[in-house]
Amino acid sequence: MSTALSPTALAQQFTSLFGAAPDGIWAAPGRVNLIGEHTDYNEGFVLPFAIDRTANVAVRLRGDNTARLVSSYGNQGVVEVDLDTLSRDSMSGWTAYPLGVVWVLRQQGVAVGGFDLFLDSTVPTGAGLSSSAAIECAVATAFNELLDAQLSPGALVLVGQRAENEVVGAPTGILDQSASLLSTDGHAVFLDCRSQASQLVPLALAAAGLIVLVVDTKVTHAHATGGYAARRASCELGAEVLGVAALRDVDAEDLAEAAGLLDEETFRRVRHIVTEDMRVLETVSVLEASGPSAIGDLLTASHASMRDDFEISCPELDLAVDTALSNGALGARMTGGGFGGSAIALIPASAEATVRTAVLDAFAAAGFTTPDIFAVSPAAGARRIV
Ligand code: ADP
Ligand code: MG
Repeated sequence: MSTALSPTALAQQFTSLFGAAPDGIWAAPGRVNLIGEHTDYNEGFVLPFAIDRTANVAVRLRGDNTARLVSSYGNQGVVEVDLDTLSRDSMSGWTAYPLGVVWVLRQQGVAVGGFDLFLDSTVPTGAGLSSSAAIECAVATAFNELLDAQLSPGALVLVGQRAENEVVGAPTGILDQSASLLSTDGHAVFLDCRSQASQLVPLALAAAGLIVLVVDTKVTHAHATGGYAARRASCELGAEVLGVAALRDVDAEDLAEAAGLLDEETFRRVRHIVTEDMRVLETVSVLEASGPSAIGDLLTASHASMRDDFEISCPELDLAVDTALSNGALGARMTGGGFGGSAIALIPASAEATVRTAVLDAFAAAGFTTPDIFAVSPAAGARRIV
């Protein structure tokens, strides 16, 4: 699913399948988290950016109560649903993402009736680039506009999050939807997960001759879900013992004392969160003062902290990071929840071929699955394209 249908081709396929032209086509991007991992549920800071890969949805309102949905991905055929019988527990498979958004909108009083929907996405699934939020945000943006619901981008973020939490059942924060809805071209979104305040930060990669290379390791470890829950539990324990509402409230100066109060493992989990929040803040100020060529060490320090203190990396992610660094990357880190998924490397555009070949060779030599490697650039957030 790496090649997008052009808007014209998408409209044509929609029309031949559903018998009438779409009312419009909306696009919402996936995202890369530049820095700030597992800080979101600790009410801390994150710095994602929307990427130049989007979920595109062509939608036509039908005027009845039937929804018909299809995706260009994986020959799954048309799914038809009677919206009158739509309940939180009745949704499964990929349509839980678009229908989850519809369910939340209806819960919030937006009268979404019958529609036809054709999804075409170039965001790879399960690679940590948030293909799920891309779908949610494209669908939420489409209905917001088609029904003139007047929901703000911030309100649409919460619609997508509710769909993911309450319908799909994934306990995620607001990072993914915020990146997909709030980004602008050439910027990252600096997000305070406590106040939910956001700020655009210039991320002028091209002007600095840099690119971000994603290495999708294709690894999905079976313990990813359990590991995520265990890390959350450690963070909650740490906050409780230290007497704070969330680890966001622990400062670097508090760490020495914390070491005496926490067991060794919980202390390292806490130290990752505290230092990661500091690295996000530092990355924002370095980007503003000196530009992206100066943030490499912060990215690499973030990876070391996730590998050693938070222990959410894996051999494939470590190999991708180490190989990129020894072949010209300014910085590199795993991105996303961990235990697999993708790493990112900040590299001079001129080093792309070298890094790509070195990573492929290193993975082959280690006997690992061949990774997918591709460049991403900071792109615009959700929008209408036709
Ligand atoms: P991520 O968001 O990190 O890519 P998730 O597990 O949260 O991973 O979401 C992936 C799921 O989103 C897929 O299993 C599928 O149900 C749905 N999905 C993503 N892209 C598409 C697509 N193009 N067509 C149909 N379903 C998709
Ligand atoms: Mg997801």
